[in-house]
This record gives sequence, structure tokens and C-alpha cells, in this order.
Amino acid sequence: MIHTSIHSVDNPAEPGELAVAIRVGQYMLARYGTVDSSDIFAYAQAHGGLAESLRIMLRALGAEPVAEQQAAPRCPAAHPDDPTPCDGPAVVTVLDAANAGANGCEHHGARLLASLDGGRVYALPGAPAGAAIRVFKTAGATRPFAWTERGEGQ
Ligand SMILES: [Zn+2]
Repeated sequence: MIHTSIHSVDNPAEPGELAVAIRVGQYMLARYGTVDSSDIFAYAQAHGGLAESLRIMLRALGAEPVAEQQAAPRCPAAHPDDPTPCDGPAVVTVLDAANAGANGCEHHGARLLASLDGGRVYALPGAPAGAAIRVFKTAGATRPFAWTERGEGQ
């Protein structure tokens, strides 16, 4: 089911702004919608481009400011030293070799998995198709403790 209205639109933008946001979104998705899974820099670039187009879209729709979203609680898989926001709801469980686990969004799930020795990833019930595979592949292209280096996210 598709909701035809955005909740709490109390500051609707001018139509022109939305048109620009749509064009930016179409451009970014065309350019970054598919990424070479072996190239972590391509991933970082795509993530930045897609995140920015989403910010532009939310702003055009008068949705809540980005600062509020970043202050929202993050998924349990997010490392306290990792400043990056979640890329969505928790959709996977990441287990370490001792079966200690944490639920996470795809972004933090992949970063956690990449940092574990002998870690595994499973999709949570209701996760979108391929979530665990995407996390697994992204983890394979992600350095352990990726948040300790600059270049991906901030
Ligand atoms: Zn997360």
C-alpha cells in the first residue's frame, strides 16, 4: 500500500523546489543506483550522493530537519565511535563467533560484520528481500572498524 500523503507536512515547499529535488533524485539514482560491489570508494561516493539527494527531497517536502533525524536513536549494531546515521530500520541480525548478536540497519550491520572475526548475518522477519546478502557483500568490501578512517560517511 502506498501512502498518498506525507505525515506532518507543516512547511510545504514551493512546487519548484520539489521539481528540483525529483530531478536530483532521478539523476543520483541513475548514476549511483548500481555500484560495483568490489569498490568501497564507489560505495562511499554512491552513499554520499544518494544521502544528499534524499536530504534535498525531504527538505523539499517540508519533512523534519536532518539534524533531528541524526539525533534519533540508532540501531544496536552502530558502534558508539561510529558517527554515521542509520540508513534505514533494523533489518538484520549480526552474530559473532560466540553467537552474541545485535540487530542493525544494513549500513551498520555491514560495518559490524566487517569488524567481527567469524561473524554471520541473518535477515530479520519482514526484512526486504536480499537484505542479508547486501550486508554480507558490503561487509566484504568494508574494512574492519571502518569508522576509524575518513572517506566513508563523516
Ligand atoms: Zn544503523
